[in-house]
Amino acid sequence: MSFKKLPFSNQFYELGESFFSVVKPARLKNPFWLHINTEVMDLLGISIDDLKAQCGLDIFSGKSSFADQPPIAMVYSGHQFGGYNPRLGDGRAILLAQVNTEYGVRDVQLKGAGPTPYSRGADGRAVLRSSIREYLGSEAMHKLGIATTRALCLVGSEEPVMRETIETAATITRVAKTHIRFGHFEYFHYAGQPDQVKQLADYVIEQFLPEAINAADKYDQLLSMTVTNTAKLIAQWQAVGFAHGVMNTDNMSIIGETLDYGPYGFLDDYEPEFICNHTDQTGRYAFDQQPSIGLWNLSALAHALSSLISKSITREILQQYEPILIDTYASMMRKKLGFSTERKDDHKLCAGLLNLMAQDKVDYTLLFRTMCDFNTLEDASLPEDKTKATLTNNNLSIGKLFSQQEKWKTWALDYNQRLITENSSDAIRASIMKKTNPKFIARNHLLQRAIEKAETNQDDSDISTLFMLLQAPFDEHPEFDEFAKPPKNSEKYLEISCSS
Ligand code: AMP
Ligand code: MG
Repeated sequence: MSFKKLPFSNQFYELGESFFSVVKPARLKNPFWLHINTEVMDLLGISIDDLKAQCGLDIFSGKSSFADQPPIAMVYSGHQFGGYNPRLGDGRAILLAQVNTEYGVRDVQLKGAGPTPYSRGADGRAVLRSSIREYLGSEAMHKLGIATTRALCLVGSEEPVMRETIETAATITRVAKTHIRFGHFEYFHYAGQPDQVKQLADYVIEQFLPEAINAADKYDQLLSMTVTNTAKLIAQWQAVGFAHGVMNTDNMSIIGETLDYGPYGFLDDYEPEFICNHTDQTGRYAFDQQPSIGLWNLSALAHALSSLISKSITREILQQYEPILIDTYASMMRKKLGFSTERKDDHKLCAGLLNLMAQDKVDYTLLFRTMCDFNTLEDASLPEDKTKATLTNNNLSIGKLFSQQEKWKTWALDYNQRLITENSSDAIRASIMKKTNPKFIARNHLLQRAIEKAETNQDDSDISTLFMLLQAPFDEHPEFDEFAKPPKNSEKYLEISCSS
């Protein structure tokens, strides 16, 4: 099948030209394949033969067209680091087409294919390093069960681009249910175009809330959907230890998917104030600020919808955010700790562990993965003074991750008691916990290694290995234990900035 025969759809296009500009991608010099995501390829109904043929490389490096319809760049605005920027838009992303799939419509967007009317003087390119980071990071999140955009393929090139130094350009073909951002609504609201706000809201409702199309409160339902999905999303980020880095409203998806992977970072050491974006000097988007920034961003969205929703209803809907986030987070942390029931003091136990991890700078992912093999000690076998209890080797090896051994032991005994109250079986709990606590995450130092290999010799081997591991992050892959290790001190604190 040729690409042109894919079941394309053109809903966004039909909204009309106030929503986008028609653009022509700019081809990359001497492009080459770095990776293809065959799952996304299957999702879109594209065959490997098509993709691997010259026309595949031509399309996804910006040389040839994908669909009959012309490619477009969307207009939006947004609050960046708290200040309103009235005009942003797809400065380096081009919507090639929308494709009808078995799972609904998917936007296929080529990122890094040259300037658009929204590039604000920049080159419209994406450097290889940031493209690799987005490609691997988004797939990692997807396989961790977190709502996110994905990517079809990654293409390298010999096209030079100027950043702090000369680098090479790449493209990533991003695939999402929608690329509509909070900033889309802000653009039309602040431009004094309430009709377009309504049109866009109707579009999102038609796509994602079809059951509400005829409801009198459909716009309330829309805001409520975004509030709910965003609260759940950010709870998941916190539970998995993901810092987005640039939570500007133009990077917030209206359906609550993780969008625009820039200087993101998965926590290594558990450091709640972790700032992954070197440019974020005040820590506005620090890891522990994400829940409150989520609400700030939703309030900005709600303001942009004020022509459609009354103030009092808006207030009520925004109030849903915090309890949803807290409940989702609590339930995820219970799962991470291997609890199958809910107890009133679970949050205290969890906070106790996190505090100790923060004090001792314990690796977040490694600790929870190691905790899967915790051995419960029968109450009867414990001495009267529980602190004199002897821990098993498994529990001692968890303890080795902490520097304050006594504090760890005290916590472990409380944890032990909690597990005993629900008659937790070590073997069953371990197997469930290993499906919740990943062994492999997209750690910065691993991404950096993959980037350096790709930059020096066009060597895609680490990209492939990492991709394979991140696609099955809960599996043991014993021969790849090296990729599960935290960074050495020399590999920590890489400076990742917005410049990409
Ligand atoms: P970001 O922080 O990457 O989400 O980008 C913020 C805005 O800057 C968006 O409108 C981007 O499209 C735009 N932008 C970022 N990098 C470039 C670039 N190299 N060329 C053109 N526009 C860009
Ligand atoms: Mg962005």
